[in-house]
Amino acid sequence: MQSPHSAFFRRIDLCYGKGKEECTSCAKKPQGGSRYALPAFAVPVSFDVLEKHSVCATFFVLGSRVEGREEVLLRMEALGCEIGNHTFSHADLTRLSAEQCKEEIDKTNAEFERALGHPASVVRPPYGFYNAAVRKNVPYPLVLWTVDTNDWRPRNVAELADAVVREAEDGCVILMHDQQSSTAEAMDAIIPALVAKGFRFVTVSELIAATDGACKAVKMPGGG
Ligand SMILES: [Zn+2]
Repeated sequence: MQSPHSAFFRRIDLCYGKGKEECTSCAKKPQGGSRYALPAFAVPVSFDVLEKHSVCATFFVLGSRVEGREEVLLRMEALGCEIGNHTFSHADLTRLSAEQCKEEIDKTNAEFERALGHPASVVRPPYGFYNAAVRKNVPYPLVLWTVDTNDWRPRNVAELADAVVREAEDGCVILMHDQQSSTAEAMDAIIPALVAKGFRFVTVSELIAATDGACKAVKMPGGG
């Protein structure tokens, strides 16, 4: 008999932005000066789906995008979602000095302090890029992912939903972006399908606590 999955976690990577270019996947290509598009409707649509199904997510937010969007962050928290630090300027941390790394993280946390009254306790390095120096210079759990949905581009909703439901496993971290309506539509199918399979949605900090820091997608500070 299959035991219930106890620590499924769904992560949504939120790249706030401006301009019309797409958010290239954080997973693949670093590219200086790229812009991150976030259609105005995208966030409320995603929130509505999370709220409809009473599940949470973790949103990794750029510090440079907090100003003027404080209400959005407050709604995230009101829904039980976690807000993670995605650096201030979407920098490739592996190219920065210790001091610059610290500034990217600290400036972002200062914005969260201002908007929410507390800093973030987890960091997602842009593009998933990190090395030994980044781990030393950024003394927070570094959150990566185990399922990459490539949903930053428009995707067929049924295909996207099927892929996520098929790839989900206990303790997984699913990378999604908040800029395509196909993501929100797929979520509306993915969430009940995974709940029916016994998965439970938790924030990344809950996942870290549930796995005692042994989650595959998370590099703990000071860890090997
Ligand atoms: Zn990103």
